[in-house]
Amino acid sequence: MAELLPRAVTALLVLGLGAALGALTSLFTGRPLAMSALGALLALLLVNVRQAARGHRLLEWLRSPRQTPAPRDAGFWGELGYRFERALRNKDVELQAERQRLQEFLAAIDASPNGVMLLDASDQISWLNSVAAEHLGLDPTRDRLQRVTNLVRAPAFVSYMQDGRFEEPIVFAGPLGRSTLSVIVRAYGEGMKLMLTQDITERERAEAMRRDFVANVSHEIRTPLTVVAGFVETLAQLPLTEVERRRVLTLMEQQTDRMQSLVGDLLTLAQLEGSPRPGPDRWVAAAPILQRAHDDALALSAGRHRIDISGGADAEIAGSEAELISAVGNLLNNAVRYTPVDGQISLRWAWRDGGAADIEVSDTGIGIAREHLPRLTERFYRVDGSRSRDTGGTGLGLSIVKHVVQRHGGEIDVQSEIGKGTTFRMQLPAQRVRRLAAADEVPAAAVAAAPDGTVSA
Ligand code: ADP
Repeated sequence: MAELLPRAVTALLVLGLGAALGALTSLFTGRPLAMSALGALLALLLVNVRQAARGHRLLEWLRSPRQTPAPRDAGFWGELGYRFERALRNKDVELQAERQRLQEFLAAIDASPNGVMLLDASDQISWLNSVAAEHLGLDPTRDRLQRVTNLVRAPAFVSYMQDGRFEEPIVFAGPLGRSTLSVIVRAYGEGMKLMLTQDITERERAEAMRRDFVANVSHEIRTPLTVVAGFVETLAQLPLTEVERRRVLTLMEQQTDRMQSLVGDLLTLAQLEGSPRPGPDRWVAAAPILQRAHDDALALSAGRHRIDISGGADAEIAGSEAELISAVGNLLNNAVRYTPVDGQISLRWAWRDGGAADIEVSDTGIGIAREHLPRLTERFYRVDGSRSRDTGGTGLGLSIVKHVVQRHGGEIDVQSEIGKGTTFRMQLPAQRVRRLAAADEVPAAAVAAAPDGTVSA
């Protein structure tokens, strides 16, 4: 209302001025009334043309992409322009903030470890994150607005989408059959769908390994158990001579020993998998570890091999003494079992450049063919099953070694040649080994030489 009064007053003034000019002109032309009316009309027309021009300027600005400020004007048009400009600027700021929020939201979904895809009512892809694109072999930009079943053609997936029963996820092979995918769909809005994809290749593999493991353990235990059950039956039902009875009992003892070793190794593995890594600041001397494993190997060999031990007298390891004895013991145990009589076995501590160190067990035994090397540390993997079992092997020794070494931040390496021998190397990182200060040195690993052990510390 406030701006109407000055505008009405201005209009009346202009009208009056026009009429006065008309009346003045009538002094020369006569007809004062008509001339006054004409003057007033022309003045009104002028005012209107001016207003129209100012309005047009503002309209042009509103129609333009509006990169410039609104036209500066006085009075009514000026305020109108200013208010338009401010309202539009506020809307732009709001829109920008909304856009930013949407981008952040999409970036968060994009960062999800799972694939996310949005489908419209006709199953066309509205949006998908890069993980879904990777899982399904799609292109996040090019494949938008394509019907998903035209692009993902796995028959199980296509019929899942057609059935429309999405309570359970569906599992099928990913593109090129290299992965296993689990996909679940949830409906929302009007016929739209949210699709989540997950790569479960690793999980499936772990599950298959677990099944294999259980089957292997059952098999390994059932065999000696069947043998023992047979002997028990024999003892119960047949009248045996003392010699026969002794023989049966010896065979039973062998089978129960076998089961005991297996259960012992299984427990060791379970413990290694279920307990925290040995702390990096619990230092133990290397010499007693090597010495203990050496002593056990000498006992197992019972004079059939020459077993050297060297180095390590000045070394300490950050880790678990019991685990390390078990790992070195397993390597030496294998060396004894897979090396023919009179063979040579060496246990060696070797410093490497940069402060790291190796515990090396080498033998002149039967060796291992190249194709077996990558699988040796798998549980129950054996090159020659009957030789392993006959010599009391469980097929778990090298898995234990690998676990122990990895828990100490290291790696296991093997070199072998058929008929010539094998070298296993436990590579320990520099952070886990250190030299003892001279004064603290533990007596050299080789001091306690066994009758048939060659000492070269
Ligand atoms: P096992 O109880 O059968 O010895 P391991 O896990 O200790 O099980 O070893 C796996 C397989 O690796 C063995 O069955 C054997 O065939 C092979 N192997 C391990 N150490 C040696 C070695 N020093 N010389 C030859 N073969 C070996």
